[in-house]
Amino acid sequence: VQSFNNVSLCISLSHVDLFSPQNAGDIESTLNILNVLDELLSAGTDRRITYMISKGGSEALLSALVTTARTFSPNFTILLPLLHLLAKVGHRDRRIGMKAEKAEAVLPTLTLLKQNVKHTRRTAACLWVLQVFCSSVTTATLLGQNRGLDVIFRLIPPHTTRHKRTVKAAIDALAALLCSKANVRAAVANGYVSALLKLYEDWHNKDPDHETIPIRLALLHCLHQTTHCSAGRDALVAQGGISLLYHTIQTCLASNGLESLVEPAVQLMRKCYPKCPLPLTSDQSVYTFPLPGRPTDTAPGPQDVSFEDDSDDDIENEEDDDLESDVNKLRSRPEPDRPLEQLGQYVRLCPELHHDFQDLDSDSEVDSSSEEEVEGDQDGKGEPPENHLQACDFHSHFLSSASVKQDSHPSMVDRLLEKHGACIPHHDPRMYTAAAALTKSIPEYSILAFPDFWGHLPPQSKEPMAGRKPNVQRKKVFEDVQRLLNPEDVIDEVVFDLEDPSSQGSPDHSDSLSFFSKFECGNLRKAVHVRRYYDLILNADANCSQHHQWFYFEVSGMAANVPYRFNIINCEKANSQFNYGMQPVLYSVREALEGRPNWLRTGTEVCYYRNSFCPSRGQKSSSFYTLTFTVTFKHNEDVCYLAYHYPYTYSALQSHLQVLQRSVDPRKLFFRQQSLCNTLAGNPCPLVTITACPPSKSWKDLHQLRNRPCVVLTARVHPGESNASWVMKGTLEFLCSSDPVAEALREAYIFKIIPMLNPDGVINGTHRCSLNGEDLNRQWMKPDPVLSPTIYHAKGFLYYLNSIGKTPLVFCDYHGHSRKKNVFLYGCSVKETVWQSGSAVNTATLKEDPGYRTIPKTLDRIAPAFSFNSCNYLVEKSREATARVVVWREMGVLRSYTMESTYNGCDQGVFKGMQTGTGELEEMGVKFCQSLLSLRRNTMLYNRRVISQPTLLNLDDNLLDHKSRNCFEDDEPPCVEEIEYRNDSFPEPNRNDLDSEVNGNTSSAEEEEDDEEEHQTTGNSRRRSMKSRLYPHLIGQETLNIKRSPCNGMNISNGQYLS
Ligand SMILES: [Zn+2]
Repeated sequence: VQSFNNVSLCISLSHVDLFSPQNAGDIESTLNILNVLDELLSAGTDRRITYMISKGGSEALLSALVTTARTFSPNFTILLPLLHLLAKVGHRDRRIGMKAEKAEAVLPTLTLLKQNVKHTRRTAACLWVLQVFCSSVTTATLLGQNRGLDVIFRLIPPHTTRHKRTVKAAIDALAALLCSKANVRAAVANGYVSALLKLYEDWHNKDPDHETIPIRLALLHCLHQTTHCSAGRDALVAQGGISLLYHTIQTCLASNGLESLVEPAVQLMRKCYPKCPLPLTSDQSVYTFPLPGRPTDTAPGPQDVSFEDDSDDDIENEEDDDLESDVNKLRSRPEPDRPLEQLGQYVRLCPELHHDFQDLDSDSEVDSSSEEEVEGDQDGKGEPPENHLQACDFHSHFLSSASVKQDSHPSMVDRLLEKHGACIPHHDPRMYTAAAALTKSIPEYSILAFPDFWGHLPPQSKEPMAGRKPNVQRKKVFEDVQRLLNPEDVIDEVVFDLEDPSSQGSPDHSDSLSFFSKFECGNLRKAVHVRRYYDLILNADANCSQHHQWFYFEVSGMAANVPYRFNIINCEKANSQFNYGMQPVLYSVREALEGRPNWLRTGTEVCYYRNSFCPSRGQKSSSFYTLTFTVTFKHNEDVCYLAYHYPYTYSALQSHLQVLQRSVDPRKLFFRQQSLCNTLAGNPCPLVTITACPPSKSWKDLHQLRNRPCVVLTARVHPGESNASWVMKGTLEFLCSSDPVAEALREAYIFKIIPMLNPDGVINGTHRCSLNGEDLNRQWMKPDPVLSPTIYHAKGFLYYLNSIGKTPLVFCDYHGHSRKKNVFLYGCSVKETVWQSGSAVNTATLKEDPGYRTIPKTLDRIAPAFSFNSCNYLVEKSREATARVVVWREMGVLRSYTMESTYNGCDQGVFKGMQTGTGELEEMGVKFCQSLLSLRRNTMLYNRRVISQPTLLNLDDNLLDHKSRNCFEDDEPPCVEEIEYRNDSFPEPNRNDLDSEVNGNTSSAEEEEDDEEEHQTTGNSRRRSMKSRLYPHLIGQETLNIKRSPCNGMNISNGQYLS
């Protein structure tokens, strides 16, 4: 407190004294005050300076500066320490620029500079002050308009060993002036970019011992500033800047201690790297689908591609103003979007309510209500098996023979299975082939991807997240830059093009890999062999020009043990779990034939960063991100598949449902697969009913069945979220299993499951949308019956359940989350939303059933991948048309959730540090079902075997009382390497750096020799504290009673220093 009082006192004194020092006595006392202030402010933390600023300290110093500078022959004995103090204080005052303008101190300081360019220390002092003034853009512009740029630029010499501090001050001041766009334009127009490059080169070349790193860094900073406009970037490229930066960095990399120079130079190269349109004829998807009611010739022309990221799962809203704060709106229930009479059509979707179970007592055969059963082709067993099937033979043979439409070699499947067949539970390749034959796609696929056909087993061992090599991104950027610098060794050969059938199929490029993606869920539009690596371009969602994220393609023709680098160059999201340990997945046909049919996490040097590509037709200003990874294949001439995540096709779902149906005992388990409706492309959207058959056909048992609450589960509305399908697979298999908990659940509930809300999107390899180019999870408020039939009828079916008094007890829509780890739920709560939104409504008076928390609390206990802390229950305005919010608000379902599963892995629990596999995803589907038991534990009569499962039944809410953290917090730390180059990623100059420069201005031997004027004044300066060197010689130690306290603070006895 005392020192704050002292500061305060000094300020008021300075007000009085600094204005008009007239004689030597005044000068001395002014200097005393300045020095005491400096001593006070140098000690301890910045709090004192902040305090001084809040008390008008900046204004006092500015007015003193103006008064002194205006005199005919300014007295630098006072001005120099004043400028020094102003630099230190101003550096911490965010409004110093505005204050300086108001005090009319800006141009006088510039004038002082112009008049004193021969005096290096005065020059430096003026430059620092001008630099801090430029914290305001208008001040910087004002300086620029008054020749400030020119004056300062002339102070920057080629390499010299003299006056380095002043040179550095000039470069820093120039960089500060270049915060103004007007100044940047002027600088570029005056050829500063070229001049700065020459200066940078000169300082680099003549500094073999690296003694001027701060100056080189400051020059890079200036270059960074001048390239904020496109003319600046063009100038840098035209002047050979990229090459210069590249080669200077290489020498820096060779020396230790030059790390600080490398990153800014790399960022500068990235920023200036010329924009390159994607080599495509159009940004529109290759796949177009004529929409009913819309003219077919509306091929959208050059589109304004702006990647507005409104995905519900992937971007958290940082702003609370997205929260719905209107309590009435939150509590109101909108009128149904259709007349009640239309709901009658959904009676057929509740067969269990009308079934009479007459066959219960007879030995009837399997329920064969599924109309689409297709037997796999069983003939051909008699043909001789092929002698030796290689993976590479398999590629061409299988692709042609499995052409399901032609049915040319039906025996191939059997022979393969006979020879290499793996036993994968709930998967039958023949059924898969038959199901795929019925699947309708835009490109009319005639080829099956081997992994989907053959099946996948999770690997035996867990897969840890990939470690990130230091500077891996830098290495990739260098490779990208070399492409520009050495165009002669760029091959640039298109090796695959979805639009050009001649480029598909077997490779005629002997040393190139071959690519293929024209199969269900496939997504790869184009592959270009660049140098030793491949640029891959993803196809936009059908009828659309964006949402590039999901990929799935075949690659063949490789040599074993050779690293191949793949760059997916048109990703859109601003960051990715690929920067946090996630790897893509790979499936090897050769491995599968040898008994290891596994999708495995693969890829080294995985990283994700903004690149210099832009849309082929769209805005040049938007750009893309590169996902790069390197794969070293195990076998020569293998056929492999790479994907964003474990694929799960529509045909896989269809065949899976058939297998399940065959696996259940129809006398015990009621399993019915029906079609909710047909999709736009004419694929049936399955709806599955699962419940327990009644023990008898007695009225009592039938009544119990008909009174069971409904649980409605949906998944895969977003096609790229294949993880959701694996979770759903786990749910379906569990519910059909003989597990006692599953039996109990079937006896307690009727499950209505729509496992794939967006079949067309899944089939055609889109990431986010359906064929109408819309996100179906934004259609729930007013779904269009023609364009969004699955949503329209899913909602209609829920209305129907409502109308017959069977409002679902639980609704959950399974999704995948690309930016977070773990598995978690989003729910809906009026109270939490209102509270979080900061609304004035008193939430204590709001009554709400807290039952929506039971399932997440239970999952937190029983599911290792689940994170209760990542859950939230907020109703956002931007999500009001999602399934979760609409089902909650319009159907009145209290427990309406989105379940988000990571693509990557977990950062907590027993799976911590592991990437998720299909096993863990399926387990999550099981755990979700198990958690449903917690809703019934007080009312349900348990099967005895269930009671013996303590983990499920010892659910005590008191033990589950977690405190939710802030739901919006980022769960990833910033990336080690800057993903973006657009941000001003130049390191902020440290405040203490400027302090030490300023402090050094009074003591440096280097400067002393030249400044005759101040020569005699610096005698005993070096004995003084390093922190305060404003004008040390004038105040003897005796005037101050300074005691350093043990904690390095400073005590000054009040009164003594004024003597
Ligand atoms: Zn989603």
